[in-house]
Amino acid sequence: MIVTLKGNNPDPKKVELLTTWLEGLAIRTHFIVGQHQTVIGLIGDTSVVDIDLINSLDIVQNVQRIQEPYKKANRKFHTDDTVIDINGIKLGGGNFQIIAGPCSVESREQICSIAQSVKAAGSTMLRGGAFKPRTSPYSFQGMQAEGIELLLEAKRLTGLPIVSELMNISHLPLFEEVDVIQVGARNMQNFELLKELGMIKKPILLKRGLANTLEELLMSVEYIMAGGNENVILCERGIRTFETATRNTLDISAIPILHNKTHLPVIVDPSHAAGISSLVRPLSMAAIAAGADGLIIEVHNDPSQALCDGPQSLTPEAFDHLASDAHNVLQLMRGFKQ
Ligand code: PEP
Ligand code: MN
Repeated sequence: MIVTLKGNNPDPKKVELLTTWLEGLAIRTHFIVGQHQTVIGLIGDTSVVDIDLINSLDIVQNVQRIQEPYKKANRKFHTDDTVIDINGIKLGGGNFQIIAGPCSVESREQICSIAQSVKAAGSTMLRGGAFKPRTSPYSFQGMQAEGIELLLEAKRLTGLPIVSELMNISHLPLFEEVDVIQVGARNMQNFELLKELGMIKKPILLKRGLANTLEELLMSVEYIMAGGNENVILCERGIRTFETATRNTLDISAIPILHNKTHLPVIVDPSHAAGISSLVRPLSMAAIAAGADGLIIEVHNDPSQALCDGPQSLTPEAFDHLASDAHNVLQLMRGFKQ
């Protein structure tokens, strides 16, 4: 439920009386103070709240029930786009960023050389998996703690903030200097993990599950936000369909739908969606045209030798081409919006 107060300077005593009364009904209040209006989001079992009573208060302009089960992530709760600050790099609300790097960290030389190339091409963040969720237990599982150390070296070398996947909350201490924690598609509904990540302040990149609806994605976001961490970036990375020509099917419609339903930034991973490197550039352009706030792209210095996801990885040269086209398409789209 959303209570919109009259004007931008409501009587603080009356507001306090209202919140104390609501808290007595076990309802938590979440204030969104805008330039022209103050809105109070009510979280909890609002069926016990008498709407007419709240509406009759002289500080209240109107009361709206939110039908959707996600509250804090809901655009109705927070009409402006949320901008996430990642070590000074802004993402969302018109700030477009490209995250690039290998699927997995493989060696010091590999991660440092890729980091330098993607930075030179215009990437503003470095990705690299240290803990890898592999379908087979016999496949390379990532360099784990050592992989994080090497990512940190690449961060010191280039100044690029780093993004890496966390699968087990017991590894959190290793992620102290990781700038964005990725929750992969396979863990989108690992609710215990999400609850723990709700208790920290670090930005979380939450990927859509392989077979999850957008509403399920938003409910997973809600687990993180309900705990108090509002720094969440959503990622569309392709879903399972009957189509076998691609690894997954990129759900382009997810971008405008999510923008309509939530204030959080939405980025796209065309690499895992396509599974084929030649499709990464066209899918990236489509994602930008549909309004994505950013891209996350797999880049490898020698894709044919990559220990994970080589077929979908771009060479540094192909990434350079993609990044410059991305900025051209972005400029073009900005022209349409004016
Ligand atoms: C990844 O980013 O390397 C990854 C495993 O992605 P996803 O969870 O989307 O499959
Ligand atoms: Mn990968």
